[in-house]
Amino acid sequence: MQNPSERAAPINIPVDEFRQLGHDLVDRISDHLDSLSELKVTPGETQETVRSALGRESMPKNGMDASALLTEAADLLTDHSLFIGHPKFWGYITSSSAPIGVLGDFLASAINPNLGGWMLAPMATEIEVQSIRWMAEMIGYSPDCGGILVSGGNMANFVGFLAARKAKSEWNVREEGLRAAPGSLRVYVSAKAHTWIQKAADLFGLGTDSIRWVPVDERECMDVNALDALIETDFAKGDIPFMVVGTAGTVGSGAIDPLPAIATICQKHDLWFHVDGAYGAFASVLPDAPPELSGLSEADSIALDPHKWLYSPLEAGCALVRDVRHLRDAFSFVPEYYNFADGASGPTNFFELGMQNSRGFRALKVWLGLKQVGWDGYRQMISDDVALSKQLFEEVSRAPDLEPISNSLSITTFRFRPAQFQAEEHLEELNELNRKVLEEIQASGEAFISNAVIEGAYVLRACFVNFRTTPADVSALPEIVLRAGRQVLKGMKD
Ligand SMILES: *Cc1c(COP(=O)(O)O)cnc(C)c1O
Repeated sequence: MQNPSERAAPINIPVDEFRQLGHDLVDRISDHLDSLSELKVTPGETQETVRSALGRESMPKNGMDASALLTEAADLLTDHSLFIGHPKFWGYITSSSAPIGVLGDFLASAINPNLGGWMLAPMATEIEVQSIRWMAEMIGYSPDCGGILVSGGNMANFVGFLAARKAKSEWNVREEGLRAAPGSLRVYVSAKAHTWIQKAADLFGLGTDSIRWVPVDERECMDVNALDALIETDFAKGDIPFMVVGTAGTVGSGAIDPLPAIATICQKHDLWFHVDGAYGAFASVLPDAPPELSGLSEADSIALDPHKWLYSPLEAGCALVRDVRHLRDAFSFVPEYYNFADGASGPTNFFELGMQNSRGFRALKVWLGLKQVGWDGYRQMISDDVALSKQLFEEVSRAPDLEPISNSLSITTFRFRPAQFQAEEHLEELNELNRKVLEEIQASGEAFISNAVIEGAYVLRACFVNFRTTPADVSALPEIVLRAGRQVLKGMKD
């Protein structure tokens, strides 16, 4: 029933109807989650098929019934999606979403606080501040650090990059830009780093030529002697080295750069030390955490990605800086039309600490996960993900025609290598073969893995950030790959 005192706005839904729609939708979502493991990971449809299913009509003139509409949306999405939450999804680094986070997003958008200013989001802002502090504690970073939630790892790295650019330029870079730079700025990063660094160098005016790609060793970790030599050479030329990026878990193979050694080099040359911990930083909670992660505590800034190993639903990234002042220095402008209290002395106004103005409540889903399972819960889940990757490495080692390549954090790489491709001179053909095997597996929907390139070898890659995966799911993979491999070989002969 429409409440007579309410305005008849077409987009509003009377409360009784809203209640029913919500219950129906939750039932629908619960059934979907319950059936996930019996579904294919992806229907593997073409863009043409998906567009046809959606329909091509123009913008509707009249609206439609909300119940029918939600049913339509749920049908479209359950029938034509790739399910990242599927127990056999191991592609890229993107995690199953925590059920508590799904509910959290619902609650967050119902309250709809605007986390640009404290005044517009008092409790929500405090929940974000607390989540940031807890995440810092988890990785052994000072809980007095500054930080801000952003949409993902790329944006979190951009925040660190801009904080460094401001902190390390001796002229007023925010006013005069790079025109006033007395030389070329240089940033150092391993050759296996994520592509965000190119976007950052481009977007923030340095140009991609400013990136120095530091060589890696055979485990794909940054060679710190080469780093030191590059910095010395650039200083001698009159360039301006300002920032070194260490990666805590590369996207390809999960390699962790020698963070403590990089920190020492940054101190020696007075450079900003940023760590891209989007994937691996949360492995710090493990009792047998990789020792290089101890270097996180020495970073000037760190990028984290709760939508990876904290299993928060997309999107949630987090940037940390040792001192919140660095964020305010890099981002704050206070316009005349805001009467918010001064964030330096008063409550936190996040609009001053990052790139966004209006900001959503992505902190809630992160905070709910942290509180629902605590340290012990995350320790167990991350530890299980790592164990599954080791299990895969061992099973692949035992399977005929599969060759194990690497295992670090929760990433295992391997390739299909039948007898006729054993000789080294077959590298190119072997790469082509594995490329086709990957396509075959991805299209089949039986499991979803991705690829990496390791020392010129195109390899298959499984990454476990998935609390739904069981050991039995993993044990099914070698046979899926071998079947796809035989299929591809057969196709090549015909
Ligand atoms: C995932 C990832 C990124 C990018 O993060 P998004 O959340 O996809 O923006 C950057 N660096 C590393 C090491 C990553 O694993």
